[in-house]
Amino acid sequence: AAKRDGRGCVRIFNRSMLLLLEQRENLRRSLRMALERNELYLEYQPLIRPPSSLVGFEALLRWRHSEVGTIPPSVFIPIAEADGLMDEIGRWVLEEACRQATTWPSSLTVAVNLSPAQFLSGSLTDTVAQIIDAVGLRADRLELEITENVLLEQTIDNIDTLNTLNVLGIRISLDDFGTYYSSLSYLKNFPFDTLKIDQYFIGDLETNRKSQTIVRSIIGLAHGLGISVTAEGVETPGQAQWLIKEDCDCLQGNVLGRPLGAEPTRDFIRRSPLTAVRVREERNRAV
Ligand code: C2E
Ligand code: MG
Ligand code: MG
Ligand code: MG
Repeated sequence: AAKRDGRGCVRIFNRSMLLLLEQRENLRRSLRMALERNELYLEYQPLIRPPSSLVGFEALLRWRHSEVGTIPPSVFIPIAEADGLMDEIGRWVLEEACRQATTWPSSLTVAVNLSPAQFLSGSLTDTVAQIIDAVGLRADRLELEITENVLLEQTIDNIDTLNTLNVLGIRISLDDFGTYYSSLSYLKNFPFDTLKIDQYFIGDLETNRKSQTIVRSIIGLAHGLGISVTAEGVETPGQAQWLIKEDCDCLQGNVLGRPLGAEPTRDFIRRSPLTAVRVREERNRAV
């Protein structure tokens, strides 16, 4: 049966696929080979500053399995994480995303999701510094997205890691805000540049007053702290208009642009209203 995975893609799940997915060992082995076989790839979803300037893209990981087809990250990332593969996969994602970004206009940023394993590995800052140096990407063009579960332990080490990345000029986003503990102490103790409001609060914005109040409050809180706000999963013009009226800094979602492969992403950049991009590029050149 065809099933909406809730992320805007229709996936075909059949009995044999489920069987395969249940065979953890099988999946783990094919995941390990997926890297070598180039079955992993990235899609890029645009981030738009209202009304229409393109800020950059979020890199989203995909797995095109030779037998079962495309497997969504919500299925294979937890397995990769549990089996200790996410550090290596995450390093590949970082390098691939940064390399792609060097083919875009120099005003555009790339956002990369970090898994807990990567963050807690102890070598994250070195790895990131090495990669941007190797591919030649300006540090301020890279944004790293982390979720709160990464920071459950607010240790000195975790704070140090984020501060070091910050000093390098790399930006940090708190992803899926509102779905974990949403502890305000994170906002006090960690140097976030952006807070991404989870699509859970965006989907019913036009009709649900509670969502409206929560989103409005998060924007106010973030702005008071000097943090920029991105809304995730914007699916309708009405949601976009409401968010713009409430001073949301950046929008992401299918109504603004679905995730695209590397080549279609370059077409998207060429077709997008480039005025803002060009102006910023000229400014960069002048510096
Ligand atoms: P996320 O980082 O919060 O990414 C946003 C998710 O929302 C993406 O799902 C995206 O396709 C989906 N989305 C965007 N706009 C819309 C919309 O208008 N409607 C709906 N229904 N969905 C929308 P995706 O690509 O399936 O990724 C799911 C999660 O998997 C991500 O959530 C992220 O936590 C994780 N992930 C993806 N790529 C990576 C990666 O390279 N590394 C790590 N560690 N995690 C990743
Ligand atoms: Mg994300
Ligand atoms: Mg998110
Ligand atoms: Mg999410």
